[in-house]
Amino acid sequence: MFFDPMYFMFVGPAILFTIWAQIKVKGAFSHYEKIGASTHLTGKDVALKILEESNIRDVKVEEVQGWFSDHYDSQAKVLRLSPKVYRNSSIASVGVAAHEVGHAIQHAEGYAPLMFRQIIAPAAMLGSNMAMILIFLGAMISAFGLIKLGIIGFALAVIFQLITVPVELDASRRAKKLLDTHAIIPQKDLQGVTVVLNAAAYTYLAAALAAVMQLLYFLFRFGFFGSKRN
Ligand SMILES: [Zn+2]
Repeated sequence: MFFDPMYFMFVGPAILFTIWAQIKVKGAFSHYEKIGASTHLTGKDVALKILEESNIRDVKVEEVQGWFSDHYDSQAKVLRLSPKVYRNSSIASVGVAAHEVGHAIQHAEGYAPLMFRQIIAPAAMLGSNMAMILIFLGAMISAFGLIKLGIIGFALAVIFQLITVPVELDASRRAKKLLDTHAIIPQKDLQGVTVVLNAAAYTYLAAALAAVMQLLYFLFRFGFFGSKRN
């Protein structure tokens, strides 16, 4: 149970992909945070400008501490940008700010995958918190029902990770389009934005893949694929 080489067969490649994606996104961001966008607008300016031009007037833009802590809070209707994004006018800052506005627009439009993700979020959170405890406990006392319940909880978290991928890709697609149509940055800067946002997309893909492989491992380990081994 505790040292199963099969675990690394299933999850190992996804972990390597995750590490690669993290290195890639950090590299892309640190490269493009040194290159200023020619319009000299900060991430905050860009966010406010796109929100205004998109006719979204009830979303606030705030600064939040932390590294890569940028996010859109749909409940509070606040777009929170990390200091580097909020204050700087680099290509990386502008790209991340536009991506987060992309989420605000998804919310305003009722974009289906985002709505679905919000609906399953509480169950997915509970599932991911309880899954390991239930599976571990179930395996300890040989209670198959507990293991099953844990796997169902984990599956909910996996669905959340999977639906995150289209939500993120769509926010990035919107970001590039918005920056272009509102003429916020010129075409040559847009290439850098694409590099940064694509790199970020790989981290979501990697997280989803790792979650799926972990689920497949549980299904395999506890005999859901036919041959039960214990
Ligand atoms: Zn996002």
